[in-house]
Amino acid sequence: MVIETRTPEETYELGRQLGQKAYPGQVICLNGDLGVGKTVFTQGFAAGLGIEGPVNSPTFTIVQEYDEGRLPLYHFDVYRIGDISEMDEIGYEDCFYGEGVTLIEWSQLIRELLPQQVTCVTIEKDLEQGFDYRRIRVEERT
Ligand code: ADP
Ligand code: MG
Repeated sequence: MVIETRTPEETYELGRQLGQKAYPGQVICLNGDLGVGKTVFTQGFAAGLGIEGPVNSPTFTIVQEYDEGRLPLYHFDVYRIGDISEMDEIGYEDCFYGEGVTLIEWSQLIRELLPQQVTCVTIEKDLEQGFDYRRIRVEERT
């Protein structure tokens, strides 16, 4: 499925809809360049799960957990990860293979740790279509 958005609100709304459909054990890989809208998408996704508080990129902690929604949400941003062994220290397996939903910004940086079945969300700009245009591809990968 490919969705085109032209405002941050539309990207947020797509995230919200997917958050409403999220299921236990789901892992969502979120990729795209800096500033493309991964965190905007995540904020909508969290809202769709019923999480009301602010959601920002967990820059200093790699992962942030939110427990006030319909399912626990583990929001990873692995952009600043130094070594893959940091993921073991975080206890990532309890997130990926638990009852909550995991969302991973920059998941391609930890490709070797990803479960076999993931939902991939890839966001791209196309400046010819305008500064706020985004093409968002959502695909199930097994
Ligand atoms: P990332 O997490 O991918 O680095 P952010 O979500 O933090 O990016 O920032 C995306 C920026 O792009 C925000 O400032 C947002 O307002 C802006 N923006 C403009 N158009 C869009 C759009 N169509 N979808 C998402 N964000 C958009
Ligand atoms: Mg971000």
